Amino acid sequence: MRTRQNSILLIAVAAAVPYGVLLQGFLGGSWYTFFHPYSLGMVFGLSAWFLFCASLLLAARVRFLERRLGQDRLLGLHRYAALSGMVLGCLHAAFKTFFFPEFTVAHYTGGAGFGLILLLAIPSAVVMAAMVPDRPVWLGRCKQRIRSAVRYSAMKGLHNLLPAAVAILMVHVLLAAPTAENRLRPLLILATGLPALSLWLDHKVLRPLRAARGTITQVAALSPSLLSVSFRISRPLRAIPGQFGYFRVRSPRTGREEHPLTFAAPLENRNGELVVRREGRWTEALAFCSAGSEIRLDGPYGAFTFDEERPMLWIAGGVGITPFCARIRAAAQGSAPLRHPVTLLWSAATAQEMPFREEFLAYAAGEHRFCFIPYLTRESGGRRLTPPDIAAALRVLEEAGGAPCSVWFCGSRPLRAVVKAACVAAGVFRGRFHYEDFSV
Ligand SMILES: Cc1cc2nc3c(=O)[nH]c(=O)nc-3n(C[C@H](O)[C@H](O)[C@H](O)COP(=O)(O)OP(=O)(O)OC[C@H]3O[C@@H](n4cnc5c(N)ncnc54)[C@H](O)[C@@H]3O)c2cc1C
Repeated sequence: MRTRQNSILLIAVAAAVPYGVLLQGFLGGSWYTFFHPYSLGMVFGLSAWFLFCASLLLAARVRFLERRLGQDRLLGLHRYAALSGMVLGCLHAAFKTFFFPEFTVAHYTGGAGFGLILLLAIPSAVVMAAMVPDRPVWLGRCKQRIRSAVRYSAMKGLHNLLPAAVAILMVHVLLAAPTAENRLRPLLILATGLPALSLWLDHKVLRPLRAARGTITQVAALSPSLLSVSFRISRPLRAIPGQFGYFRVRSPRTGREEHPLTFAAPLENRNGELVVRREGRWTEALAFCSAGSEIRLDGPYGAFTFDEERPMLWIAGGVGITPFCARIRAAAQGSAPLRHPVTLLWSAATAQEMPFREEFLAYAAGEHRFCFIPYLTRESGGRRLTPPDIAAALRVLEEAGGAPCSVWFCGSRPLRAVVKAACVAAGVFRGRFHYEDFSV
């Protein structure tokens, strides 16, 4: 996690350089007029432009960034860059309209590009991202209604218009009067816009061509809500336990949608396994796919890949077991033995919904470094995972391991809040608390 914080800092510093160069290119020699409405309008506009380019780049699945920050944080930054860009874009539009109300082609292209961004951003914030709060109750209800009426994948498709909006904005900035004042300025605009647009194009057009091809070898029900999907790919891929891939299944029921799913076992001899919760339309359709259905796999991605240098407490809620399952299987197969004590606390509703219980208990019986404690919340005699359980597990692990341990959590957001509060109370702070909540 500390590496992640350092990476965020490093990336922020790296982004500050082109931003500084952009501002210097436009304001150089006249910084003293910074607070003049003309200059302020320009600074707001340039900052919005820079943030929209950054937002596009952050959503382009750039592997270098993704490995350092994780897909969830990258997409979080993507949202905040877009949101800040929209606020600054509004200020830019207000300044220009109020102080310099002349209507040129540049104004119209600006309005079109910015309008398109607003059109995409507002429904995306409701459907794709958890940016709209659940309270007050009426707002939460509205959000739920919109979410059930509009399909996530339809929104994702609409989102693909973002580069078109950025391209229109590039024309707007290139046509703007201050940009035309010297030769360097158009070059600076092209140098910020073209890399972002090219990376997005690569992501949307070339990446699907590079995706690994394969077939489903078996679909089996593990429990009323969980499926095991085994597959074979045509070329070897190396995934670290805890990583995920974006899967497309080419069948009439599943359509062309792409969904992120974690590898539930090491990718051995090009064979892999997924454990999928029947959550909605696509995952339900997966249950009806047969052996032989074609798949495309883009990956692996993800930074939820464990810290092998210290004892670890793993906590899973329901299908959140998949990253841990891959790590335990890698250890059990001997390809990545555990080096420090590990305790797994897995909470599920019923014994039926805990399909790997016997497998994990058997592994724990033969490996003194591994301890497995299941929690069944809806079985008679079962109980919920509570903060004192977490505190006790941490204490035992730290005594056995002789070092502060890290905590790895994968499960629902409400359970994450409980786990995080217990960890903070036990002195495990951000640097040692890692989570994945299966949402991007
Ligand atoms: C990194 C990561 C790893 C995951 N690993 C697993 C796993 O191992 N097993 C598992 O069961 N689930 C996993 N998920 C969750 C899984 O991707 C969703 O449950 C699935 O996409 C739901 O699709 P649906 O149409 O069945 O459900 P819907 O009811 O349409 O969607 C339910 C929720 O899933 C998310 N979602 C839907 N479609 C997409 C999409 N195309 N891309 C991204 N998110 C989407 C949205 O948050 C949505 O609110 C993972 C998610 C992420 C982000």
